[in-house]
Amino acid sequence: MAEQLLIHDDEKLMIQRAYRNLLRSLKDKMTTEDKKNIRQAYELAVQAHSKQRRKSGEPYILHPIEVARICVEEIGLGPTAVVCALLHDVVEDTDVSLGDIKIQFGEKVSKIVDGLTKLDGTYDVEISQAENFRKVLSTLVDDVRVVLIKMADRLHNMRTLGSMARHKQLRIAAETSYIYAPLAHRLGLYNVKTEFQDLSMKITEPDAYHQIAQKLQETKKDRNNYINDFINPLDEELASLNIPYRIIGRPKSIHSIWNKIKVKKIPFEEIYDLFAIRIIVDVPAKQEKSACWQVYSVVTDVFHPIPERLKDWITTAKSNGYESLHTTVIGPKGRYVEVQIRSERMDEIAEKGFAAHWKYKGVKPNGQNVYDNWLDSIRDILDDPDKDALDFINDFKTNLFNEEVYVYTPKGEMKILPKGATALDFAFHIHTEVGYHCSAIKVNNKLVPMGYKIDNGDQIHVTTNKNQKPNEAWLKMVVTSRAKSKIRTALKEDNKKRAEDGKDALIRKMKSMKVDYEEGADFLVKFWGFKSRFELHYAIALGDIDIIHEMKKFSVENGKLMLISQENFIKSDHDLQKTISEKSALLKGKKQPSIFINGEPGDQYNYSLASCCNPLLGDDIFAFITTASGVKIHRTTCPNATNMMANYGYRIMRADWANSSDTEFVADLVITGLDSGPGVIEKLTNKISTSLGYNIRSFSIEGKEGYFEGKVSLIVLNIDQLNLVINSIKSLEGISSVTRVE
Ligand code: MN
Repeated sequence: MAEQLLIHDDEKLMIQRAYRNLLRSLKDKMTTEDKKNIRQAYELAVQAHSKQRRKSGEPYILHPIEVARICVEEIGLGPTAVVCALLHDVVEDTDVSLGDIKIQFGEKVSKIVDGLTKLDGTYDVEISQAENFRKVLSTLVDDVRVVLIKMADRLHNMRTLGSMARHKQLRIAAETSYIYAPLAHRLGLYNVKTEFQDLSMKITEPDAYHQIAQKLQETKKDRNNYINDFINPLDEELASLNIPYRIIGRPKSIHSIWNKIKVKKIPFEEIYDLFAIRIIVDVPAKQEKSACWQVYSVVTDVFHPIPERLKDWITTAKSNGYESLHTTVIGPKGRYVEVQIRSERMDEIAEKGFAAHWKYKGVKPNGQNVYDNWLDSIRDILDDPDKDALDFINDFKTNLFNEEVYVYTPKGEMKILPKGATALDFAFHIHTEVGYHCSAIKVNNKLVPMGYKIDNGDQIHVTTNKNQKPNEAWLKMVVTSRAKSKIRTALKEDNKKRAEDGKDALIRKMKSMKVDYEEGADFLVKFWGFKSRFELHYAIALGDIDIIHEMKKFSVENGKLMLISQENFIKSDHDLQKTISEKSALLKGKKQPSIFINGEPGDQYNYSLASCCNPLLGDDIFAFITTASGVKIHRTTCPNATNMMANYGYRIMRADWANSSDTEFVADLVITGLDSGPGVIEKLTNKISTSLGYNIRSFSIEGKEGYFEGKVSLIVLNIDQLNLVINSIKSLEGISSVTRVE
């Protein structure tokens, strides 16, 4: 960077104007001390960045000034944040050290600036997303302001991304939508989240973005007319309430419209709720709730409401602090219109989130510690040392970003769990011991499976039994990281104990054979392809390896094990498996398809098709040796495949379909489309069974808001037949998608 980059006079004016603008945004929120600090921070930043320019060519200092302004005006932060925002790139990019900042501005500011500097590495490609998460989250629990200022920084960078190289734009956009948008949502920064999503989409899906933006522009006039038609009759009635209010029609974000187009599979023209009506009342905190319900009453007098769409987040705020009353009504021309009713205070919290929430802390007793709980759960996740990176991201997504469900104990105490949580999660939420010994769960007085997904308002009663303990299957019945890590810990303890038993048995056996235990065990680990002695011991304890029987394959020479004969070993093994295989075939009462395993006819193995992915002739498949139920054949696209391959690679064998087979397979399809009335089922069954001639085993259909989702189980001989069915259903009128269930 050479001398020619020195700042010109006109640029100096621009910088001073930006700075004055920043001060104006703080208005009367500053003490004399604050003013002095901000001035000093500004001067230090101007000095430090004096030789830098941004990619766009403008003086670098405009960036920290703008970030500080966003902190104040768009996120609602105060003077300390402004000082930190002004200094946020100083340590990273210039000669100023953290020590200098500490001396000049004190401990608090230097800590936040330090956090911001550490977060800056998140552009680094070498670092995985999971590690990025960890970094962001650890600074978040130290001081939330670090992340809030980082949001402002990212927002300004996203707004000015145009001058970056395309590949950098893509990377930053991906990271923004992956980490920062959900975090902004969780911190209640609604506007920031929306802008993150829109700006990311503009980069990753430019065509779709511009198309929707253009269509929004083209339809703007019509929409405004419609909004006026909607608002006018309301206005008259609302005025009679004598409550100060304002009413606005807000268009939805491009990203959320795009989502709707993708999820509902309908064109832009068919989306009517492109906007929401918001009615904001200006009343003291004590009258908010009743004022909002009065407004609700007026709205539903004028327009007919859809009762299922009523959402009351005033009585119980969302976990990110959001409070509002939502309803959907049938507006003019029979179109659905979403109406949001809230107070000015609620509106500020809804738009600015965290910082605004702090400002009103204490106004509403039940909203006080929503963030404390959340920060605690982040600490929980950060603290679990056993977690691998993938688990970490999964937990993060389910536990920290999701919406919540509100449920009750038998005594009526409310508990908040992440949406999707199960009855067993609830048991662990109550207490670890309750979880460990949970033997039965009743929801609203009815017995439910432990994996039952709990719903808002459920009253849950857990019965415990001292002899009950967690097993492997429980891991699949929970989603919260707390329950998962507790179950894992219990299983580990349990496995350790079991492995000890297996080890004892092996030691006894080796002793009687006069084989040195250490050497013998290592030999067997290798022979059977285990990863460790622990696994060998464990398999013995589980009975996967019957040592009395298996050890007959070995002779002992000079205290060492020797294999007697490979053939005998395979034969004896298969005799055993064959009987199990015959039994299970009998049980199922249906013929096994012919499959080659490791290149040989598979009937020597006890194999069966996995029920998780229902493979059918023609699918890519592999064989997996289970501990208890022989060999299972899975599709390579099975949702469990990655896990099996990653963790139990040694149990995987090649599998191929034998060329011809007259076995029948069950395949499940999910069909969605426009609900054209009661004829839908008939139309589909006609197509599948009458005109194509396939047998349907079961059919269920569910309609919602003009759409239906149907599940069909049908019987086919191979993948070609299934594809034929899929394609012919797709060609039917009104069908939007046909997918095979993975
Ligand atoms: Mn920056």
